[in-house]
Amino acid sequence: MAMMATNIFQKIIDKQIPAKIAYEDDLCLAFHDINAQAPVHVLIIPKKVIRTHADLTDADEAVMGHIHLIAVKLAKQLGLDAGYRLVINCEEQAGQTVPHLHLHLMGGRAMGWPPG
Ligand code: AMP
Repeated sequence: MAMMATNIFQKIIDKQIPAKIAYEDDLCLAFHDINAQAPVHVLIIPKKVIRTHADLTDADEAVMGHIHLIAVKLAKQLGLDAGYRLVINCEEQAGQTVPHLHLHLMGGRAMGWPPG
């Protein structure tokens, strides 16, 4: 699927469209994926608009560390004791469809490797 022109995740941050929010603070928002690919599938996003992983700069070091630590907390809260997978799709060829960097936190089932 081609990358969407509009940033739907900004609308979720701005509470213009609903989402099942799992966690929120000043730096990030986490919400359940609308098309879950696993029993637990949460997206963790920086509130700062970063279009894609390749756009990261030194200024983003703290927020990127932060979203990983929130992933650890959410994995514990959501019962992913057996393990979980974190994914960031960067650009269309990797499967990115929303132009706002997001960390997929998925778990609750066995997963194959390599991914498709
Ligand atoms: P990616 O393909 O890596 O860009 O991931 C985008 C993810 O956003 C997909 O897994 C979608 O199911 C998810 N998604 C798109 N729109 C929404 C929405 N309104 N609420 C929750 N998740 C969404």
